[in-house]
Order: sequence, then structure tokens, then C-alpha cells
Amino acid sequence: MRLVMKFGGVAIADGRKIKSVADLVKNVKEDANAGKTKELVIVTSALFDVTDILHETAPRIVKEGQVEKVKEFVVAFRAKHDTAASDAITDPRVLTKVKSELKERMDELEKALIGVCLVGELTVRSCDYIVSFGERLAAPILAGTLQSIGIDAVHLTGGDVGIITNDDYGNAQLITGAEETIRARLTSLLADNKVPVVCGYIGETKKGIITTTGRGGSDYTATLIGAAIAADEIWLWKETEGIMSADPKIIKDARKIPYISYREAMELSYFGASVLHPRAIEPVIEKQIPIRVKNLLMPEDEGTLIGKASEHTTKAAKAITLIESTSIINIAGRAVKSISEVAARIFAVLAAEGVDIIMISHGSSERTISVVINSAQQKKAINALRNINTEGAVIRDFTSNSNVCAMGVVGAGMAGSPGVAGKVFSALGNEGVSVIMISQGSSEYNISFVVKKEDAYRTAQAIHDMFEMGK
Ligand code: ASP
Ligand code: MG
Repeated sequence: MRLVMKFGGVAIADGRKIKSVADLVKNVKEDANAGKTKELVIVTSALFDVTDILHETAPRIVKEGQVEKVKEFVVAFRAKHDTAASDAITDPRVLTKVKSELKERMDELEKALIGVCLVGELTVRSCDYIVSFGERLAAPILAGTLQSIGIDAVHLTGGDVGIITNDDYGNAQLITGAEETIRARLTSLLADNKVPVVCGYIGETKKGIITTTGRGGSDYTATLIGAAIAADEIWLWKETEGIMSADPKIIKDARKIPYISYREAMELSYFGASVLHPRAIEPVIEKQIPIRVKNLLMPEDEGTLIGKASEHTTKAAKAITLIESTSIINIAGRAVKSISEVAARIFAVLAAEGVDIIMISHGSSERTISVVINSAQQKKAINALRNINTEGAVIRDFTSNSNVCAMGVVGAGMAGSPGVAGKVFSALGNEGVSVIMISQGSSEYNISFVVKKEDAYRTAQAIHDMFEMGK
């Protein structure tokens, strides 16, 4: 049995938690040793909050331009990781070794921060390098903790195991052919009965420059590795029950979904369910490797199993997600232009600015196009649209509204089954909620729509009730 297990976020918030993660790894390993040998690959993300801290600190340091501030930051940051290591690692010899590794990495981080501070500029490339330290500090701590309880763990960066990516910093993707290297490197460690502890989230370009695969990217690392080494299963450990029918903070009776298909899970993760990295499903679909989202607080629980579509997955509407901080931009093209010309220009400028579009719809008679985007990107999008007409008048005018919420209803059973959309929108009708925009992909796995922010929660509840989701 070959398993990839990923840990991250609150699961590794401090030394005590890292210690219990290590105990769990040992249990899984030894449990299987009684029967079939279990080969484990561990993927770790940064300690809780660390990636956020690095993402906030780097631009702040550049803005302040004071080397003293870098030093202050590094002292506190080092203390956080040293304390975690001291609390988690019980063997003093291992601890000494890990602390010296941490010091080395911390010095590199300090140099990088001083560099951007003095240059006064933070490129996407240097940002990836700086945030990579989150995982590069966590991996030695977790590997050391495992060593101190008798497991032969080795820590490796993404580049070390062959995660070679393109140079799309902040959103890098594996290059073709990389899988073979990953397989060769990891299987030779496994053959020596080692437990590799791999940094999630980060890779390297062919030239050895560090990249990241986007926020939450450790899930993606785990599934890339799982596919490359033909794992039997991939377990993503979280402090949640699994994939839920809705956000339990918003919807009462939200329940764990025991079984979900790859396609459904993909739709959910693209549509704001923060439980998975959006690209995490892709690598395993072809090989049909099952993914389990497991709950650290209830390790015996089966969690949610993500696998191929089956009779379990046919529920018409299984889950509802909302993306709360969204803005809708309505763009009216010039009457003399075709809808394709208008669309071409709009999408070109939005793409050039790196604006991610969540939903699109158009009204051809008026040549209007509406796009829904993340509110954090609203300013960028509006600036881009403002400049469109400098290259020929294409747009007549546009308006935006950030007081909206995008929602997605997901379920494999809606494909080809009439009446699902009818039910969704009659739930809205019953609540007296009016729909601002609608879209449904032709794959019919997802109906998405936009409502006013203030209507969002009760709409979601009404739909959740209507389809008895989670039951
Ligand atoms: N540490 C990275 C992040 O916070 C990657 C991950 O957690 O999966 O986005
Ligand atoms: Mg994280």
C-alpha cells in the first residue's frame, strides 16, 4: 500500500500539534506494517498563518525600506519556528540538527528580505522565493519530529523531488515529463524504507528558481506526487470533517458529503469551497487515484472520498457554495461593434491584468457583457477597462457593483435531468430573492448565479433545504 498524506494549516499550528501529526503518521505506518507494508510520502505546508505573514511582510518591508525592520521581523519569525521545533522534537540531538538547519534557512530569508528592502521592489519571482520559506522551514521541523520518534524521515523541497514547473510565478504548473523524475526520486527513497517529507506549494523552474503553485497549493503537490508514484490513495488531512454540503458556519444542517466524484469536487473547489486547491483534482483523474479528505480530530472517520463517478454521485444537487467578496461588472459595447469584438477586447485587457473571472454572461442585443470577479481585483479590472478605448472605441460604458454574492449549486445528477434549475430558482422565488445573473456550464455540473449580498445566506439555506443536501 502506497499512501501520500498531506498536512497543513491549523493542523500544524505549533509544536504540540506537529507532535500529534507525527504520532499519527507513525500510527498509520505501523498499523500497516502489521499487514501489508505501507509506503508513506508526507507533504507539508507552512505552519499555520506563516504564508499569510510572509505575503504581508514582503511588500511592507519594501515599502518601509528600513533594514532594521527586516531584522526585527526575522527575530520574531525565527523564535516562532524554534519554539515549534523545541516543543515537537523530543530527541535533543535531532533538535540541535534541526535548529541549525532552521538557522541556515532563516539567514537566507533575511538576505532575501534585505535584498528586496534595499532594491525597493518586489517582483512576483522574488515574492515566490520569499513565501517558499514557510514550507522550507516547516519540512525540517516535521521530519525532525518524525525522526525523534523513530521514523526514518528525510525532508525535501519541491525541486528536490523533481517538481519542475513553468515560470508562471504564483501559479506555476508542472512541466510535462516531470512526473518521471518525481517517480524515480521518491520510489528510490521508499525502497530504502525512508519517509520523505516534501514541501508542498513550491516547485522550481528548470533553471532552479523557486516557484509556487498558488495559495493552498500543498494539496496540488500531494496529488501531483500521488499521480507520479501511482499511490493507492491520497489523504488530505484537515481539521474539518471532509467536504461539506455547504459552509457549516452559514448553513444549519450542513453535512459531510461521504462520496463525491472528481468532477463535482473540481467544480466545488473552483467555486469557492476553500477545502481544496482548484487544480488538485486534475493530476489524479486519469489514473483514478482516490483522494480522501480526512479529519485530524477524528482520524478513524472515513472523511470524504473523492473518486470516479458512481451510483453514489448521482444526487442532482449535492452542495452549495458561495463566493462572498465578489463584484459584478456590466460592460456595454458600442452598437457598431460585434459582440465578439467587444468580448475579445474585454477579455484581453482583463487577462493582461491577471484578473480571474468567476462567471460570465452576455446579452447580445445590447452588446453587454457581465463578468463576476473577486472584489479584491475590482480596482485592477476597472482601470483596465477604462483604458480600453485608447485603442479604438469599443466600450460605450460600464458599471460595477460589489454588493453581490456569487453562488454555485453543484451535483453530477443535474446533467440531463430536467427541472433542477427550475427547483433552484423556485427556491429563490419562494424567498422573494431576485437573481442578478445566471450561468450554467454545458457540462451541467454546476448552476451558478448572483444575488444581492444581503440575500445570500437565506438563499443558500433555502436551496440547501430544497434539495435536502447532506442528507
Ligand atoms: N502554505 C501555502 C498557503 O497557505 C500552501 C498551502 O497551505 O497549501 O497557501
Ligand atoms: Mg497554508
